[in-house]
Amino acid sequence: MAPQEILPGLYFFERGYLNGNHLAATGEAPVLVDTGYASGLAATLGNLAAVGIEPAAVRTVVNTHLHCDHVGGNPALQGASGCRAWLHRAARPAVESGDRLATWWDYYGQAGEFFPVGRWLEDGEEVLLGVHPFQVIHVPGHAPDLIALYHPGEKLLLSSDALWERGLAVVTPEVEGDDAPRRWLDSLERLAGLDVCRVYPGHGGPFGDFAGALERTRSRLELYCADPCSMADDLLRKITVYTLLMGGPRPEAGFFDQLCATRWFPATVDRWFGGAHRAKYDETLVHLLQRRAVVRDLGQLRSLARP
Ligand SMILES: [Zn+2]
Repeated sequence: MAPQEILPGLYFFERGYLNGNHLAATGEAPVLVDTGYASGLAATLGNLAAVGIEPAAVRTVVNTHLHCDHVGGNPALQGASGCRAWLHRAARPAVESGDRLATWWDYYGQAGEFFPVGRWLEDGEEVLLGVHPFQVIHVPGHAPDLIALYHPGEKLLLSSDALWERGLAVVTPEVEGDDAPRRWLDSLERLAGLDVCRVYPGHGGPFGDFAGALERTRSRLELYCADPCSMADDLLRKITVYTLLMGGPRPEAGFFDQLCATRWFPATVDRWFGGAHRAKYDETLVHLLQRRAVVRDLGQLRSLARP
């Protein structure tokens, strides 16, 4: 997808559904916001080349949070340029202790490597994306270190995974704590106080209906608070689909065993559904097949859609 120049010299790159979107500010000292999956590095570099940024010229990478679809390109880009990454200071314990569960990498069986961090961001401080000042807004919930970036003058919000136009990012209570949906609701309240005309999210396209997206996200999170099993059901469905989207189609025989060998599947079923692994797998698959989020094809399971 072609880069969108959202302010002079500041470009938004919309990626496929799974990969995190990213931004780049051109000029003397190029700044990136997020770097996509490690496996999507070639496309990330292609995006930067399209706006005239050489990897070695990058001066700063601002990461919205420590998930692999947002920091995956960091080691390569930082290796090429020697630049440091900036993250909210809530990421510091995980980075300094090398906690691969807190980053989701080991919990969800994803690829990811730690990288040098040069600055721990604070809520309310200002970062420059090129010549454009953005406020750091700490919006924990989906991740403890999640930040949004807000330009009050232009009424622009870079919402990362705190707010999408449709649907919402996974809530992982086993990693983020049982108060994750409540913290996310508090974060939405903070965002609701902003004057926003246009939102550039971490996944999916830009949108203008800020109030509508807030309301849809809020109502789903309130449901999670009232009925945590619905949150666990959504987690099972989403990560099952992500697994098939990321790894490609796979034989149906054996898929259950593959899921049982992960951290996330047994942990979620044990915690919320009394350890009924097979029954929960069957129920999840029936739901996804009925919604055509997953299809059966010659003994293989395949997904082309969001859950
Ligand atoms: Zn995320």
